[in-house]
Amino acid sequence: MTIQEFQNQIEKLYFEKDEKRGIEGTFRWFVEEVGELAKALRKNDPKNLEEEFSDCLAWLVSLASLKGIDAQKCVQRYFPHCPKCKKLPCSCP
Ligand SMILES: [Zn+2]
Repeated sequence: MTIQEFQNQIEKLYFEKDEKRGIEGTFRWFVEEVGELAKALRKNDPKNLEEEFSDCLAWLVSLASLKGIDAQKCVQRYFPHCPKCKKLPCSCP
């Protein structure tokens, strides 16, 4: 699955709800999920970590969709090298 397919799926699942909720409300949900990821990192339970990373990705991609941002383009920015120093691996200070 590509990130584009993932974004399409998240749109099919949630775009209508997210649009009604609006960008501010959806952003708050995203931040809440980041908080849950912080807890999962502290607990270090692999199952829970996977779930929280998944939720964070889903909410982040949802926000991108609400703003008309193509997640595929976001990912491509990191290919073939660091967008800042143009090196692989990054050699930014
Ligand atoms: Zn760099």
